[in-house]
Amino acid sequence: MSQVSAPRIGVLAIQGDYAAHAEALNDAGAVPVEVRNPEQLDGLDGLIIPGGESTTMLKFLERRNFFDSLKEFAHTRPTFGTCAGAILLAKEVRHPAQKSLGALDAVVERNAYGRQIDSSILVEPTSLPGDPLEMVFIRAPRITKVGSDVEVLARRDGLPVLVRQGNLLAATFHPELSQDRRVHRHFVEMTMQKKQN
Ligand code: GLN
Repeated sequence: MSQVSAPRIGVLAIQGDYAAHAEALNDAGAVPVEVRNPEQLDGLDGLIIPGGESTTMLKFLERRNFFDSLKEFAHTRPTFGTCAGAILLAKEVRHPAQKSLGALDAVVERNAYGRQIDSSILVEPTSLPGDPLEMVFIRAPRITKVGSDVEVLARRDGLPVLVRQGNLLAATFHPELSQDRRVHRHFVEMTMQKKQN
């Protein structure tokens, strides 16, 4: 049996908590690569778009065709968006409407749970193997609608908070801020499956 080398997974490092994602990827058996320009997307097995502020990220992405390169990447290779990253991945963004990469077949509402003080940590069931999952929500968006190809891996108050659609994974919470590495491991496995095909 041929041995598959550890996947090289980029973390968009323009704003937000990318360092915590890099650490989580390391723990999950991948090689993290900080990505600050479109050329650095070349040759990656996957990419994480972290949480932060999606409007700020969009401003940065307008430079040097970064937005278009990222769009191409998200439509063809494994991409995981958390919180602001999930907003960027969605086909439709509301509250208010804003530009997005249009990859994940979902409608996402920004800042849906109120202000910063309403950020919360919950433990909810998940279809990932093992115990219920700790979820850290920070000015989280809400996924209000998903297409039929989207698999819901966890919910909060009945609405999806962790979803997968083929090569795409999206969480409205921050798995990198919990000790549990199951969500990152799931994404690393997605990149390895793609690598083998
Ligand atoms: N409220 C942020 C946005 O709309 C997302 C918050 C986060 O990523 N923790 O972009």
